[in-house]
Amino acid sequence: LAPLMAGKRGLIMGVANDKSIAWGIAQAVAAQGAELAFTYQGEALEKRVRPLASSLGTPEDLVLPCDVTDMDSVDAVFATLEKKWGKLDFLLHAIGFSDKNELKGKYVDTSRDNFLRTMDISCYSFTAVAKRASTLMTDGGSLVTMTYYGAERVMPHYNVMGVAKAALEASVRYLAADLGAQNIRVNAISAGPIKTLAASGIGDFRYILKWNQYNSPLRRNTTLEDCGGAGLYLLSNLSSGVTGETHHVDSGYHVVGMKAVDAPDI
Ligand code: NAD
Repeated sequence: LAPLMAGKRGLIMGVANDKSIAWGIAQAVAAQGAELAFTYQGEALEKRVRPLASSLGTPEDLVLPCDVTDMDSVDAVFATLEKKWGKLDFLLHAIGFSDKNELKGKYVDTSRDNFLRTMDISCYSFTAVAKRASTLMTDGGSLVTMTYYGAERVMPHYNVMGVAKAALEASVRYLAADLGAQNIRVNAISAGPIKTLAASGIGDFRYILKWNQYNSPLRRNTTLEDCGGAGLYLLSNLSSGVTGETHHVDSGYHVVGMKAVDAPDI
């Protein structure tokens, strides 16, 4: 049996270090034979991303700078992929940002500047990359982004990020409808809380992790491997009939209505 991703080429956006969800998914698809290109945001992260990319066999000229607030840098990434590969089979978008001063306290206090910036980086950027990737997906393809349950229900401190994730999930549905005729599928993974660089900006994150551990059906937190398996499913032909979906990978937390009776105090 050929590996699931043999002959497939994909772009991974959003690796900051080896704790990144994008890294968990990159490892899972590479283990099934995918050829990968990576983007990194800024020189500080370049030092972390290059060795990780190279450990999965990615050549140096497919590790590319990209800040999604700079559309020229986004265009440059896809121009390089067109030149080197000619086509693209899949793309993972695992990018989000909000000012950490507003990832605590009340949503009602959100500033206009941070609202727009959060929406731009965490939501619009997926639409921007989907448009560019779709022109290279001449044999169909799969696009996946990362979201969180704070889009659907109010979570402490998640605030404007929850609003941006709700817009991102709506974007997934609209993009799925736009691109489906080209056999390009668009889905989101709604991951449970995981300790990453981005998550460290969220207020009381340790409490949130404990709460999920004690109250989710599986009674444990979500891992990079959990996301890797789901990412492999959605980025490969295993999910050939699935598009427009928000797939929860959260130890089942989203089905729970109240605190578990056996949950210890935190
Ligand atoms: P991470 O810090 O490892 O990754 C976030 C990435 O976003 C980084 O690589 C960073 O460089 C990138 N980024 C931020 N601003 C950018 C910009 N302007 N241009 C280009 N890249 C930019 O953290 P993570 O938790 O792996 O986050 C990945 C995704 O998963 C995010 O969308 C996040 O919201 C989502 N998510 C995280 C959790 C969690 O608990 N960690 C849960 C659900 C969803």
